[in-house]
Amino acid sequence: MEWKGKRESANVQDARGERSGGMRGGGGLGLLMTIGRLFGFKGILAALVLGGVLWKMGLLDPGMLSGGGSSASAPQAQLSPEDEERFHFVKVVMAGTEDVWTEEFARIGRNYELPAMKVYRGQTRTACGTGSAAMGPFYCPGDQTVYIDLSFFDELRQTFKSPGDFAQAYVIAHEVGHHVQKLLGTSDKVAAMQGRPDYNEYSVRLELQADYYAGVWANHSKQNFNLDRSDIEEAMRAANAIGDDMIQKKTQGRVTPKAFTHGTAEQRMRWFSKGLQTGNIQDGDTFSMSYREL
Ligand SMILES: [Zn+2]
Repeated sequence: MEWKGKRESANVQDARGERSGGMRGGGGLGLLMTIGRLFGFKGILAALVLGGVLWKMGLLDPGMLSGGGSSASAPQAQLSPEDEERFHFVKVVMAGTEDVWTEEFARIGRNYELPAMKVYRGQTRTACGTGSAAMGPFYCPGDQTVYIDLSFFDELRQTFKSPGDFAQAYVIAHEVGHHVQKLLGTSDKVAAMQGRPDYNEYSVRLELQADYYAGVWANHSKQNFNLDRSDIEEAMRAANAIGDDMIQKKTQGRVTPKAFTHGTAEQRMRWFSKGLQTGNIQDGDTFSMSYREL
């Protein structure tokens, strides 16, 4: 996989410097962004001028505006070159998904609204509740954002024995697949089924479709990233490694099919490779066939 020097997404937020939980960090910035959304650039300017005046008068702690004072700069120094490289990597992968899905949505006469990504460390606040590194990367439909703690890549390498750039890219593409489902209305339909006894089956169908979409993305990314067979095998191994049966074996030492939420390793690999083969957003129907055929 060749990714260095490729376009980087402008929709990836670096929140690694936020303090625990991200409850404080970015508070002032978040306020400014809200003001910007509501009142435009002039609103931001007005807020900054007002803030400056209040600060001069001693009525405002400048730390409030920079989002937690010292935390804004201090943690940056702790980032290793490897962390920095990973950050560039996820931005390149996100940009790749933006290009592919914008084109694929246009093909079916739809508009692809770009998702956001937030790179955090430890814990972060999301529209879906508090996100933590232990959860692995996830997509929150409430704020249409992919959340990722880059230490997950260590876990991918150590626990799941899936090193390699493209295995990491696949994991991101799967989360973006959930964004595709959000835009197409699929995830909302499934969410509405919560509480039904067969809800878990629908959740598995949703997960396998996200794998399918990751495959569609890989199909259209071959040229951009100069993918070869070993890259694809890497992604397949990752899909295999992080299937629910594998996760359960690792964490509980046994497999309980009823608790499946992502599908088995074999199912995940199969739907990913199906998407990879067809490259067609419309061939990923994981909902019509019977659950046993999935
Ligand atoms: Zn998923």
